[in-house]
Amino acid sequence: RPRAAVVVTGSELLTGAISDRNGPWVAQHLGELGFEVSHVLVVGDRPADLADALQFVRGAALVVTSGGLGPTADDLTAEVVAGFAGVPLELDEPMRAHIADILAAWARRTGFDGPALEEANRKQAMVPRGATALAPVGTAPGLVVTVPDGPVVVVLPGPPRELQGMWPAALAAEPVRALLESVPPARSRSLRYFGLPESEIAATLRDIEAGGLDLSGIEVTTCLRRSELEVDVRPGPGASADALADALIAAHERHLVSADGTSTDELVATGLLDKGWTVATGESCTGGMLASRLIDRAGSSAYVAGGVVAYSNAAKTALLGVPAEMIAEHGAVSPEVARALADGARERLGADVGIGITGVAGPGGGTEAKPVGYVCFCVTTADGLVIARDPRLPGGRSDVRERSTDAAMHLLLR
Ligand code: ATP
Ligand code: MG
Repeated sequence: RPRAAVVVTGSELLTGAISDRNGPWVAQHLGELGFEVSHVLVVGDRPADLADALQFVRGAALVVTSGGLGPTADDLTAEVVAGFAGVPLELDEPMRAHIADILAAWARRTGFDGPALEEANRKQAMVPRGATALAPVGTAPGLVVTVPDGPVVVVLPGPPRELQGMWPAALAAEPVRALLESVPPARSRSLRYFGLPESEIAATLRDIEAGGLDLSGIEVTTCLRRSELEVDVRPGPGASADALADALIAAHERHLVSADGTSTDELVATGLLDKGWTVATGESCTGGMLASRLIDRAGSSAYVAGGVVAYSNAAKTALLGVPAEMIAEHGAVSPEVARALADGARERLGADVGIGITGVAGPGGGTEAKPVGYVCFCVTTADGLVIARDPRLPGGRSDVRERSTDAAMHLLLR
């Protein structure tokens, strides 16, 4: 399997001022194309450091860089990559003219005009000899540079929107296209589980191997995302992921959420759409996080009626009709109140499904009977379906609230 590496530049990434959104995005896409990603390196805007990083990954077949293509003095990627390839920078006249048009339109919009713009224009149109220039998404062109006895280097701008926008053109550029043809397709499988500890997968893998399945040449990565466990099975050349993936599915069927990488959010959406149902949330401790997560998906208006944040006892009664006596008798965090929140949201918002969430998010407010992390959920429908759960979720306030939202999404899958 050919190797690929990502070199992300930007001093702001090293100070922690912003976190890297390009490295993971590019790495994931390279993996999906069938590359083995060897490194994601982050370097500051210092040419010597970038040159070192490129030397470090020069054994890769493909290197993708992000950032440093702009007009400012700290934008030196094109120059460093040209040095790496051993070629000079040359003015690409058609590109200069193209960027001049973009800049002129920008100057008309903003009123910033003058000699600095001309300077910026020239700098951004400097292209390593023999490189393919990719049309700018912002003002900076991308570059594809073939390094003699080295990798194909794809140079992309730093702003994530520009980098992602340029990606299809980068893959279509001739040197990259030729490389992609030599990459065996990754027939990897991606499984998602809910509520399954990572150690269970490790134990299952040992059992499967002891049972005689040959796992050599197959790479298994597990990634815990709060309450969901994602297991990726990647076969090497000549191997297949299917036997192992099927064995993993069979071993933990009860916890399996999806066997083809489909996300929980997508499954909830298609589940509701298939039934033609709308959902309404009555949320206390999650404060609208569930409604927000549901509405995050484009097209959610087809299945989300709305949500009510009923945080205080008075709000639970006034907004969702939870009887004050019920709260006094059972407490605001109780299966009874969760059910009343679900029914109230469903009825008042005219939805088919209601979901109620009430819990002790902490750090204060816990008791022996109802400690921090105790959360009551209830899903109800007009025809009498009731699913109730009251787990104790781990972690601090934000963990409990996020895990509550996860758990609620999984209840909506049922
Ligand atoms: P520009 O023409 O905008 O200067 P550039 O290619 O020179 O493009 P950078 O100067 O490296 O890009 O970055 C510009 C801005 O894009 C950064 O200030 C930052 O806001 C954003 N950015 C750059 N790299 C990343 C990254 N890896 N992850 C998230 N945001 C990034
Ligand atoms: Mg810049």
